[in-house]
Amino acid sequence: MIFKNTSLKPLNTFGIDVIAAEFARFNSVNGLKSVLSERNKTLPILVLGGGSNILFTKSVDAFVIKNEIEGMDIITETEAYVEVQVGAGVVWHDFVLFTISKGWGGIENLSLIPGSVGASPMQNIGAYGAEIKDVFVSLEALHIETLELRTFDKESCAFGYRESVFKCELKGQYIITSVTYRLNKKPVFNTAYGAIQSELEAAGVTQISVKAISDAVIAIRQSKLPDPKVLGNAGSFFKNPVVSKGVYEKLQASFPSMPFYPQADGTVKLAAGWLIENAGLKGYRQGNCGVHDKQALVLVNYGGATGNEIFALSELIISTIEEKFGVKLEREVNIW
Ligand code: FAD
Ligand code: NAP
Repeated sequence: MIFKNTSLKPLNTFGIDVIAAEFARFNSVNGLKSVLSERNKTLPILVLGGGSNILFTKSVDAFVIKNEIEGMDIITETEAYVEVQVGAGVVWHDFVLFTISKGWGGIENLSLIPGSVGASPMQNIGAYGAEIKDVFVSLEALHIETLELRTFDKESCAFGYRESVFKCELKGQYIITSVTYRLNKKPVFNTAYGAIQSELEAAGVTQISVKAISDAVIAIRQSKLPDPKVLGNAGSFFKNPVVSKGVYEKLQASFPSMPFYPQADGTVKLAAGWLIENAGLKGYRQGNCGVHDKQALVLVNYGGATGNEIFALSELIISTIEEKFGVKLEREVNIW
């Protein structure tokens, strides 16, 4: 069924009230093919998963299709690992919980990230020192025009820091229908990042497990990130900037307490949240939106904000940070 003039308010975690010219749902590859072949070809296509990484700044003169392809199938199993093919419409955290219940390792640090499995390769989702590229095997995606199903291996996805080929060269061309991940039956734990270790200690954990790490990550996230059901947001609005060693050294001389993370290629990652906080913008409110008071990387909708108001706030943040630190922040959230 194709619906006209549908509100997308319940379908984006910022809670922006915009109208989609046309809207449909699909729950299988064949269903997607028929939706695409029967569509009004004058409208561009926008595929939505959980709507947790998108900001609508204007009405959506597009055919919005909501991915609801379910399924988790074990396709390979050895003594060491298991490969699971997951439908793109599966909720990411449900998949994480499934792997935790089996005791498989690999995505426990990625617990409680909102959104769908199908969107997880889009920006190579990452948190607490893990990225999906580390457990990724392949994905299947349907070409919007030819309706051909293509398999992409890790190399052809060109994963980078919150990046993939689907956000760059192939933007808007493919709809991801399933993703295959390899989980480790003998997990290797990564507790070095952020507050995981201290959270495990506070919880009195003596026997480390994927479940204990997942619980710790969930507890930390719930303590500092706003729940989109309560306060509209799309997680980190900006990427952490990666600068040359020279730029970093100049900044460090002026701001000795600034956190920094040297990268393997000699560049240095800075914490965008620290830059925003130290420009005095943490907790800053402008009209119906603002910078979250516990996590400066997150912009929030206090209720009734338009996408343009939030976009204008992001412009103010970018120019303020550029003026104070000479670093240009890049948006992570997809802008419509
Ligand atoms: P959507 O918002 O629906 O879509 C995002 C983009 O991907 C759009 O351009 C859309 O067209 C495209 N897309 C969606 N599905 C498909 C598909 N099947 N095929 C092709 N294109 C598709 N991200 C992280 O990386 N790490 C975090 O720790 C993290 N924490 C977050 C915390 C909060 C509170 C929130 C609200 C967001 C957070 N995010 C995080 C961002 C977001 O959850 C992820 O980027 C997530 O993968 C988005 O999934 P989605 O299904 O909601 O995508
Ligand atoms: P945090 O732990 O307070 O750390 C602040 C920043 O410093 C993070 O952005 C992180 O970069 C970086 N960092 C911390 N420890 C690091 C280390 N050992 N090595 C390299 N970089 C390090 O961050 P937070 O805001 O509470 O978020 C925790 C994790 O969840 C982070 O990985 C963050 O990316 C992720 N997260 C992402 C989103 C999103 O929407 N993308 C939203 C919420 C949380 P990285 O961001 O590169 O990891």
